[in-house]
Amino acid sequence: MPTIEIDTPAALNRFLTLAAIDGISGKERDVMNRIIGLLRTAGVDERRIRFDDANCRSPIGGEVGNLIVDLPGTVAGPTTLLSAHADTVPICQGSTPVVDGDSVKSVRESTGLGADDRAGCAAIVTAVTELLASGRPHAPIKLLFCIQEEIGLCGARYLDAKLLGPIDRAFNFDGGRVEKLTLGATGGERMTIVIHGVPAHAGVAPQTGASAIVMAARAIDGLYRDGWLGAVQKPGLGSGTANVGVISGGDATNVITPLVKLRAEARSHDPAMRSRIVEEITKAFRSAAAEIATDTGVTGRVEIDTSVDYEAFRLPPDHPTVLAADRAIRAVGREPYGEVTNGGLDANWLNRHGIPAVTLGCGQCDIHTAEETLSIPDYLDACRVALALLLPDESAAAEPHRDESSAG
Ligand SMILES: [Zn+2]
Repeated sequence: MPTIEIDTPAALNRFLTLAAIDGISGKERDVMNRIIGLLRTAGVDERRIRFDDANCRSPIGGEVGNLIVDLPGTVAGPTTLLSAHADTVPICQGSTPVVDGDSVKSVRESTGLGADDRAGCAAIVTAVTELLASGRPHAPIKLLFCIQEEIGLCGARYLDAKLLGPIDRAFNFDGGRVEKLTLGATGGERMTIVIHGVPAHAGVAPQTGASAIVMAARAIDGLYRDGWLGAVQKPGLGSGTANVGVISGGDATNVITPLVKLRAEARSHDPAMRSRIVEEITKAFRSAAAEIATDTGVTGRVEIDTSVDYEAFRLPPDHPTVLAADRAIRAVGREPYGEVTNGGLDANWLNRHGIPAVTLGCGQCDIHTAEETLSIPDYLDACRVALALLLPDESAAAEPHRDESSAG
């Protein structure tokens, strides 16, 4: 692996510039334009920069699609994708980044910094700028700046993967320590549950009603007692998590409640186990509704809607993507550690699109809070890691190379 030197003041400035731009999910146009400006300054041909139409498929719409950049290789080798998400959470609106010793914070006390994930964007732009300035040879490179990560991975989910073309190895730069190499993540499924009971006057004729609140209570209590809520551990079946997070219903104390709405979720690294948890939740609500009846035997009923938020994935430790990430982290003098996370990442959807992606951190701390900071030494090393991933190294020749005839 060659020595990795970067212009550190310029790298830090790129982060400060990008973090200061507002851009919550769906409103990424300004930050994308700034990224395009930085890439053009670095010498990237404008014709190689374009947007997909993920925003047309996203439920919230949005100003722009994912930004996709194509840098043809100057030498043969595996096609490498670097990605990061361009949106930030609402608490980061109005971020005013300032350097404070070894870290960056937002000077406004009630505002988050937005290092999640402008640090990832800045690290990628820095790596490409350094690479092009050095004139070093490189294999084909693609860049992907995703929209709408923070509202359910929508940019990655609705990505037009055809525009990217085949990818051999992919590296998603997002939150966390620079040594962290996330090679797998859980899959998640969301449920909306609507319970219809039978209304009645609670004082005059309660026996003619069937309470949706009682049905909900019975279902939730049963799930909890049987170990299907919270941390789910079922020997022989698998493990996961489940939660009923939102419940609403009822207007008055003197009405047997006819309608309750709930929102729940299930997660597992094993898609079959996740489906099993969803099935148990479904069963519990259906039977609770069937058990609570009016004096004439009219029971409740439920409508349940489920949708997969993201599929689980896990790359094997000897996958070329994992090996390359491991080498790049070591090349900057850090000791990598593998992690499998219980949260969803853009990498879940990238893997779903057939793009073998791991996630790497950039030194962001306390993300999604007003206390968010960026560790400057970590961020600079993330820039170096990104650059290392773009430089051909002695072992690149040994990596499996895609058959060109299958390239679209
Ligand atoms: Zn993030």
